[in-house]
Amino acid sequence: MTLSPEATAPADEVVLEAIGLTKHFPVRRKLRDLFRREHEAVHAVDDVHLTLRRGRVVALVGESGSGKSTVARLLAQLHPRTGGDIRLHGESTGVKRGRQFRAYVRRVQMIFQDPFASLNPVHTIRYHLTRSLRIHGNAGKSAAELERALADLLTRVSLTPPERYLDKFPHELSGGQRQRVAIARALGANPEALLADEPVSMLDVSIRLGVLNLLRDLKERLDLAILYITHDIASARYFADETLVMYAGRMVEGGDSESVTQSPAHPYTRLLIDSAPDPDRLHSLRPDAADRGNGEPPSLIRPPAGCRFHPRCPAAMPRCTTDLPVRLEIGDAPGHWAACWLYDRKEGTR
Ligand code: SF4
Repeated sequence: MTLSPEATAPADEVVLEAIGLTKHFPVRRKLRDLFRREHEAVHAVDDVHLTLRRGRVVALVGESGSGKSTVARLLAQLHPRTGGDIRLHGESTGVKRGRQFRAYVRRVQMIFQDPFASLNPVHTIRYHLTRSLRIHGNAGKSAAELERALADLLTRVSLTPPERYLDKFPHELSGGQRQRVAIARALGANPEALLADEPVSMLDVSIRLGVLNLLRDLKERLDLAILYITHDIASARYFADETLVMYAGRMVEGGDSESVTQSPAHPYTRLLIDSAPDPDRLHSLRPDAADRGNGEPPSLIRPPAGCRFHPRCPAAMPRCTTDLPVRLEIGDAPGHWAACWLYDRKEGTR
């Protein structure tokens, strides 16, 4: 098996795009709801745009319930979407079954948060990796080729020597080793894009960096496009080229990771950064930082009108309660934007 990008593919080529991606989950109905005209739904994801390019990592950051994992599942075609489009190399895609679905997942693979739950405890590492190689047609034509492909996969995720791990069961490995096996299984498809849903959040702090470094190394060597879902904005700065921030199902800020994390523009991004532990910043926190952003995320069944952050925002203005903010350029770096009326020049309150 050759794990390498197509020789002709240009750097930065767009692999996967979400355009206006929207997902509303219908709320389970009671008998009395059958007579209502309007049916309630959880507005999990609304009008999300993102672009994954070869050899680049995009971080999607937000607190629990912000919709970031739903975006990954939509991109993995695990849910049908309510609206918008998903394009693979410019071609519109939809949830399919059988051969078409396999052709899609061969190019777009997902890594889940819990490596133990994603591996079958009654099967060995050899079984998991062989299955992936066979399903995606990368197992070779002979037993010797299969053994080489298995050894290659484990070597790529730094589980060496491979023979030490191949016949072990998931419970015989550490959490970090299990996540490396899950990554190796994804690589068995020889994908172009990886959707990594909180890939290190269930691992010990001491081994998180090793797994992130592995993903970065794979991105560079295999020219992979990676979507990195996380609630930890500090790791996004370390690992991602671009950072997008989500709140209550909507994108609120985006740009290169340095700009978004060092000069956050949206009040919610500032709240996320102020909430992240950082010993260097403990003494410089503004006295009002602890008071900012108090409150709970809103109901996604009846999300607030206007800006969804307005019930928690210390800078909210009257128009924030009625008008949905549009993306506005921040101007400190090309491509840095925030969906916040503070940056509307007409407002004059920046
Ligand atoms: Fe706050 Fe208004 Fe900006 Fe929303 S649009 S983040 S409520 S200032």
